[in-house]
Amino acid sequence: MVKPFVPELVYIEPRALDYPLGRELRDKFEGMGIEIRQTTSHNQVRNLPGENDFQKYRMAKSTLVVGVRKTLKFDTSKPSAEYAIPFATGCMGHCHYCYLQTTMGSKPYIRTYVNVEEVFDAADQYMKERAPEETRFEASCTSDIVGIDHLTHTLKHAIEYFGKSEHGRLRFVTKFAHVDHLLDAEHNGRTRFRFSMNADYVIKYLEPGTSRLDDRIEAAAKVAKAGYPLGFIIAPIYLYDDWKEGYRVLFEKLHDKLPDYATKDLTFELIQHRFTKPAKRVIQKNYPMTKLEMDEEKRKYKWGRYGIGKYVYQTNEQEDIQQTLGGYIEQYFPEATLEYFT
Ligand code: SF4
Repeated sequence: MVKPFVPELVYIEPRALDYPLGRELRDKFEGMGIEIRQTTSHNQVRNLPGENDFQKYRMAKSTLVVGVRKTLKFDTSKPSAEYAIPFATGCMGHCHYCYLQTTMGSKPYIRTYVNVEEVFDAADQYMKERAPEETRFEASCTSDIVGIDHLTHTLKHAIEYFGKSEHGRLRFVTKFAHVDHLLDAEHNGRTRFRFSMNADYVIKYLEPGTSRLDDRIEAAAKVAKAGYPLGFIIAPIYLYDDWKEGYRVLFEKLHDKLPDYATKDLTFELIQHRFTKPAKRVIQKNYPMTKLEMDEEKRKYKWGRYGIGKYVYQTNEQEDIQQTLGGYIEQYFPEATLEYFT
């Protein structure tokens, strides 16, 4: 079982200590005997230990910066929500295909924001603008928020905040099974708790540092028993030799382990593997031994925004994915909703 994340090194921005959570985290990490360094801004987090980029990258993924979120303008987050709500950035996981490798560039460390009340106030403004329509907030656009929440409990507060709200809904997705502290949160059904699931092969070879399949399924069952609306993102759907059987086993296991009532309001999101040329270069640098197949010749090119196209599966392969996984959903979870395939 992958252990809950504990940083090797912590940076604290001085302004973070103006907030109760900042002081609480400082005391907690001091008590845990973790090295703490002061920094005036996260951009100054340089000189991470390590002799080369490869080592520095790994160290950064074990480094936590406790900071203050300055930008309280939220990004949009289609198709799953109206807005991305910022509680943290970066992730301790080592998924070879992860998009954070390109979006976080040279700063792959993890940041957690302590001015949570200010983030809630901003969310409140967004909800007011759209009321009486509901506003959905996605909390995992730039991190795997559950993966660090056992340390901060920020997500737990957010779940309870939106639980009390009239027009707000929260959603997030995780590859981590450390959910116990979230089970008694008063969510009032307003948070959709999603797990990223995959065939065992993909988790085993392409998602090091994250919770294993059976642990994720067990966590999903606990979350369902705690009454949360549940969802699964199957991503990235990856075509390896025996993929049809691998994904079938996934659905069978989910079906066997989840309580029946959880399957009535269950959502699935299906996302095929894709890569861009710049991402391929970064992946090969950070994970030179990866088994991840990224052969442009075998893929279909899809024009993208900002001129950076992506490589997806061929049309017939996409149809096969849709039919195969769509078929499993119908077979094992006939009452579930398939939200999209992309
Ligand atoms: Fe990226 Fe998610 Fe894996 Fe973290 S768990 S490395 S955010 S894909």
